[in-house]
Amino acid sequence: MKKLSKILAISLSLILIAGAFYGCGLKKDGKNDGKLKVVATIFPQYDFLRQIGGDKIDLKMLLTPGAESHSFEPTPKDIKAVKDADLFVYVGGDSDSWVEEILEGVDKDKLKTVTLMDTVKTVPEETVEGMQEEHDHDGHHHDEDSDHEKDSEHHEDSDKHDEHEHDEDKEDVELDEHVWTSPKNAIEIVKKLSDELGALDPENKDYFKKNADEYIKKLEGLDGHFKEVVENGKRKEIIFGDRFPFRYFVDAYGLKYYAAFPGCSTDTEASANTVAFLIDKIKTDKIPVVFHIELSNTKMAESISEATGAKIMQLNAVHNVSKEDFEKGVTYLDLMTKNLDALKEALN
Ligand SMILES: [Zn+2]
Repeated sequence: MKKLSKILAISLSLILIAGAFYGCGLKKDGKNDGKLKVVATIFPQYDFLRQIGGDKIDLKMLLTPGAESHSFEPTPKDIKAVKDADLFVYVGGDSDSWVEEILEGVDKDKLKTVTLMDTVKTVPEETVEGMQEEHDHDGHHHDEDSDHEKDSEHHEDSDKHDEHEHDEDKEDVELDEHVWTSPKNAIEIVKKLSDELGALDPENKDYFKKNADEYIKKLEGLDGHFKEVVENGKRKEIIFGDRFPFRYFVDAYGLKYYAAFPGCSTDTEASANTVAFLIDKIKTDKIPVVFHIELSNTKMAESISEATGAKIMQLNAVHNVSKEDFEKGVTYLDLMTKNLDALKEALN
């Protein structure tokens, strides 16, 4: 019996040792089956990583193709994928508030994280003339009427309360998270991702660098084309009967814009004032196109089009692609090239 328990003890410790090695093997030097495990939250960085990493990385996008990116909620499977990854790339804005909680329990030595927003220069989300006021990122649309009702319930002096609310808004400035909509930013992001992949997997560093350099050349070409279209355009103004995630894009090319809502608003119902303002702008400035964004409700653009005769077109902000496009392998470059044609029509 003594001998048997000794054998049992030895084999048990062998299993434990083997288990320990096996455990390491899964993520040895940040690798799995020789491939880095890379997880991206949404489509832009997924596509950038795909262009750079090719078949040398094991890449996963958390957002389901066709789904709305701002209201993304991770499943337990998604959380596990993040925790098991070598590199996790997210945007870093308000829509990613769920990320911090997950990363709290993760060993920072084993999981490298990159945010798009830390890679480029960011600007606050902007409300321009005519836009729906009282925008709220979480989608709690509080219109003026209900606010005043609340005011009269709790405060005698509603003006004072409004002031207080605006002060709070100022303290809590939301940065615009749609950094990828500018091809110039995309270039910076691709450089950063290539460096990170190369650092995690030095054996394939040259491969990543070569892919990144080739891809950057294409992005530079795209950037040049946009510049040309804007320079040769009859006008420098675009109008959106939709929310507006193109702040970085218009800043890059010196375009002026009017839109119904700021970039990440979950509002879809514009006030009569907002719609009237946009209709008036289109008529006064003789704007030929009213834009909407991808995977969006086109109702507002349609009613603006009916009232003005402006053509409805899509300018794709590349938050996500449809299931069909995902299966076809549609890329950021494909969608941006379509935007080039749409922009040309809108500026002439
Ligand atoms: Zn957005």
